[in-house]
Amino acid sequence: MRQIPIPMIGRLSGILIATLACASGRGAGQTAITIRNVTVIPMTATSPAPGQTVLVRDGRIVEVGAAGQLRIPAGAIIVDGTGKYLIPGLVEMHAHMSKTRASALGLYVVHGVTTLRDQGSEHAEVLRWRQEIRDGARVGPRMLIAGPYLESLRNIERMRRDPPESRVEPFERARIPIGSPADARRVIDSLAALELDHFKIRTAQDDATYLALVQAAHARGKRVVGHVVTASPAVFLQAGQDGVEHGFPISLDSMAREDRVAFWRQLAARDVGVVPTIVTAVESVFRPTEYFRDLVTDTTAAVHPLRPYLSAFMIQDWREQVDEVTPQRRAYFDRALPVGLKHLREMHEAGVRIMAGSDVAVLNVFPGASLHDELRLFVDSLRMSPMQALESATRKPAEWLRIADSVGTIERGKVADLILLDADPLSDIANTRRIAAVVLRGKLFRRQDLDALLAEVRRMPDIRANDWVR
Ligand SMILES: [Zn+2]
Repeated sequence: MRQIPIPMIGRLSGILIATLACASGRGAGQTAITIRNVTVIPMTATSPAPGQTVLVRDGRIVEVGAAGQLRIPAGAIIVDGTGKYLIPGLVEMHAHMSKTRASALGLYVVHGVTTLRDQGSEHAEVLRWRQEIRDGARVGPRMLIAGPYLESLRNIERMRRDPPESRVEPFERARIPIGSPADARRVIDSLAALELDHFKIRTAQDDATYLALVQAAHARGKRVVGHVVTASPAVFLQAGQDGVEHGFPISLDSMAREDRVAFWRQLAARDVGVVPTIVTAVESVFRPTEYFRDLVTDTTAAVHPLRPYLSAFMIQDWREQVDEVTPQRRAYFDRALPVGLKHLREMHEAGVRIMAGSDVAVLNVFPGASLHDELRLFVDSLRMSPMQALESATRKPAEWLRIADSVGTIERGKVADLILLDADPLSDIANTRRIAAVVLRGKLFRRQDLDALLAEVRRMPDIRANDWVR
């Protein structure tokens, strides 16, 4: 597969992107959509409103009001919302586009994800894909981009020692080694000129380097999110890290409960955004090895309905990950998951902003679909109400990302990123999967358009051949 010359893939993908834009762009040129007689769940402080009409024009919500009180513009596309529910498009807070590859952009839209935060990728290509989405040459969610993973020099040196055949990822293209405070300042300076939204730290050489990195990023006006890379809550607070992925180390369980809760309250007061990615722990560890082997070997939908829509790179990466699911790993997660969930429940009660992300690219975590599983886990494991779970994937991330002036709620003037559901997500959060239509920046995708988009995903060249090679 690797001998396919990259320019060839480039040409093919050019053609297919155009097809994709066409197939899904049935509404291209459409200027007005009217969703009639729908129950709107606006995700503002107000409660769901039945019998509403929502007008969309030129990519924006121009009116929301009681059916019968609004004048439907001539020529508008009419969508009957009777018996249906309208929620804002979902925000996926933890994706890795270089690993899922560009075909996954379509999968996100099919699952109602209209905003996506990339948490570590080869920045040149994800910046390019974002530009193509903005130009209308590609169908995909709005993207916020961290750029490369910031790693400790030690971790990169460890990865370099892996035999090439045991690591499919061209990791040096997506990861930057940082070995000292001076390195940290130099790297942040070198990345500052790029159009990156924030920085993502994954491993740190030591506390001094970590502190220097966050300080340098803040001096450039950029927030730092990522793994918890210091053992000390005090150093974490001193650094002022803005967001945390995958929760906090379970070693915090040795603290007295009131001290730990006091720490969570400080996170809440500083509005540190926490993206626990519970679905990753649940889906990538606790399934039987046989299931994982079947999943990566099978090329049909027999094992999982989305299996045929995954990129060749990601499947190769998943093959490696299957071998990493050892009995020791399972034993660790058996112990760690209940503790992690207890801490997350404490954080939720302490008012910490918890947001939905799935860490797609991890074994058995699927672009778009797994975000819905994360919402169900928020309800089942963190005791969130369905409304709170919905907030964690709409208004809360929009506020935290400082894009709430345009997305995250259904209000006049907002960007028209909407999901029409066949059943009430407030009575059962699993109903977020029952998608009748998606509106992406004002463009309507009815069910048949979403199915056509899915079919186009399957024909993308990155499904057939690994296009992210060393
Ligand atoms: Zn990740």
